[in-house]
Amino acid sequence: MQFTRARVYFAAIVSSLALFGLTANANSQPTASQALDDWKIHDESRPQPKVVDPGYSYQELPAPAPSDAIVLFDGRDVSQWETGKGEPIKWKVENGCMEVVKNAGAIQTKKSFGDFQLHVEWCTPEVVKNKGQNRGNSGIFLMNMYEVQVLDSYQNQTYPDGQAAAMYGAYPPQVNASRPPGHWQKYDLVFFAPRFDQSGKLISPGRVTVFHNNVLVQHHMEYPGPTGHKVRPPYKAHADKLPLGLQDHGDPVRFRNIWIREL
Ligand code: MG
Repeated sequence: MQFTRARVYFAAIVSSLALFGLTANANSQPTASQALDDWKIHDESRPQPKVVDPGYSYQELPAPAPSDAIVLFDGRDVSQWETGKGEPIKWKVENGCMEVVKNAGAIQTKKSFGDFQLHVEWCTPEVVKNKGQNRGNSGIFLMNMYEVQVLDSYQNQTYPDGQAAAMYGAYPPQVNASRPPGHWQKYDLVFFAPRFDQSGKLISPGRVTVFHNNVLVQHHMEYPGPTGHKVRPPYKAHADKLPLGLQDHGDPVRFRNIWIREL
């Protein structure tokens, strides 16, 4: 009798501890927005993401596009791209890639996209010049306004929300999976466009999951709004689909093998 009662007490204590543990655990999981509130934009004191070696691949071949993908750039044809003014792009196209030409301006797809899976390969200059934000800077602008940063972040410290694979100005990547400059790198990402109601009120924010060189670095993370420099602008209602943009930040970053699958 005593023994049974003791077992019941014991089981009760164990289950309440377990329940407490679960609750405490659930409460200790920061939401994306709580985590963001802890940090000023471009906060230099934010912890640097741990460095992870994604594996050597100097000669890595372009990843084949799936049969239902829209190939946005195959290494030669830039007919899917235009400037913000709707003019032909002036980026350099040679050796199976296109390269940012300083002051030629950002480029964008002629076609617009909402929810999608995207594959982009990019390479920062092998000869390293400058540091921080001025080393191999470009960017993938989802809907032309939500940036996934492109930067040479190999042994190149900058504010964590501005390094490679950061949701610029918002979230650093979980880890720094950068390859050295001059090596091809890639992003595979899934983006869900923000939703607005008929009055223009935000119903759900834009969300992105990013793999950098096969390493998960952003997992279903919310954009707090469109990307800005030193500011986090609020959401403003926009179209369901918008072009994909690539940034001209003045550095000769190269791109190849860009394909997209609409979801
Ligand atoms: Mg950038």
